Amino acid sequence: MNDKTQKFDVLILGAGPAGLACALKLVDSGLSIALVDKSEFPRDKICGDALSWDVYNQLSKLSPRLESEFLKMSETASTQGLHVITEEGDSFFIPFRYKGEIKEMHICKRKDFDNLLYRQVRKNGKITLLENFKAKKVEVVNNVARIHGNNSILEGEIVLGADGAHSLVAKQLLKRKMEREHYSAGLRVYYENIPPIDNKSSMEFYVLDDLLPGYFWIFPLPNNTANVGLGVLSSIVTEKKLNLREILQNAIDKNPLLQERFKNAKPVESIKGHGLTLGSKRRPISGDRYLLLGDAASLIDPLSGEGVGNAIRSGRVAAAHVLECFEAENFSASFNKKYDKEIYRLMWKELKFSRWIQMFFSRPWLMKFAIRKIGNNKIIRKLLTDSYDTKDKSQVFWNPRFLWNFLFK
Ligand SMILES: Cc1cc2nc3c(=O)[nH]c(=O)nc-3n(C[C@H](O)[C@H](O)[C@H](O)COP(=O)(O)OP(=O)(O)OC[C@H]3O[C@@H](n4cnc5c(N)ncnc54)[C@H](O)[C@@H]3O)c2cc1C
Repeated sequence: MNDKTQKFDVLILGAGPAGLACALKLVDSGLSIALVDKSEFPRDKICGDALSWDVYNQLSKLSPRLESEFLKMSETASTQGLHVITEEGDSFFIPFRYKGEIKEMHICKRKDFDNLLYRQVRKNGKITLLENFKAKKVEVVNNVARIHGNNSILEGEIVLGADGAHSLVAKQLLKRKMEREHYSAGLRVYYENIPPIDNKSSMEFYVLDDLLPGYFWIFPLPNNTANVGLGVLSSIVTEKKLNLREILQNAIDKNPLLQERFKNAKPVESIKGHGLTLGSKRRPISGDRYLLLGDAASLIDPLSGEGVGNAIRSGRVAAAHVLECFEAENFSASFNKKYDKEIYRLMWKELKFSRWIQMFFSRPWLMKFAIRKIGNNKIIRKLLTDSYDTKDKSQVFWNPRFLWNFLFK
């Protein structure tokens, strides 16, 4: 039996923040668009669920109403700072402040966050949403982009690969291979009944010797629940033959630093894992009749592991580029290079800087030295607090006051 073929102008593969942002930007373009996902919404996504100011900024650029709807969501916990703690007992706290005022960050399960965007696309009604559609193959043949599902084929002028860390579009069209030094392994498990560490609902980062230079986190969520997880570079996992699930479980059960935090806590799911495609290297992210977005384009901050803000940003840039493609009737690899250029113009400086800091911290003794310094020096902590609200964080780190205090105080 022949597979049924449906024709569209634009095919968006993946309805995470990247694909949804792109769809929202194209909703009134007059183009016929299919947004395809293997899951049914609301769907879970393994993540730390920490959504920074960059995410709200990006939401407001999609629609100011979306940002305020997000900030009002009851499924969101607000947090006013972060603690970093080592096994040696060194620690520091950075409050989230801007110009002296408290500036909260939010933790929200991705199931709820992504569903907010998804509902917005569905409400508009102009985009064909195909849930439970698992793409098996993606190809560009005779000037047509195609996604093959189980029993159907979708055709379009261009395919946008917003299909996450294991992107089919990146593998099949760009022939991308995984590079362990630019890829991180992550685990997540939701817990209930972990007491708050302070009255600011702060985020907690633990620097555990077994996991160095990775880290373990506890992020508070509403209803007495928390997102618990860890992340570490895949090259380190291979080199040190780390069993991450065992490390996570042992940390919770046996590490004196965490035992008290987890005394009455209970997991509400099994430990789950997912990869993080780090933006620590510039790479091609487009080709003939295709673009890569979000994690498929490897745009995660290599230091913090945050990828939602850049996923939305890439969705916006991709939408603008698609409009140019239709206007110029040009979907060629050379025309699409403009997209790569714009993405890296907006993001590379910060990604490169995070990579630099990540490399610095890859030496465990330096990481611990830095934590001790920060814990003991008020001026450094103040400068780091300020850096939270700056897109160009290198400004803060190259600040002579920072360097003087870090090196000589
Ligand atoms: C453990 C962990 C912790 C993290 N913590 C944070 C954090 O705290 N803050 C932060 O900002 N970022 C964090 N990230 C990164 C963040 O999750 C990603 O950067 C973000 O989800 C990228 O969005 P995306 O739209 O590119 O991809 P995704 O959100 O992965 O969406 C991709 C979509 O494509 C669909 N799809 C995939 N393959 C197919 C297929 N073959 N057919 C059909 N559909 C398909 C999937 O179902 C999915 O809905 C974390 C990641 C991990 C793994």
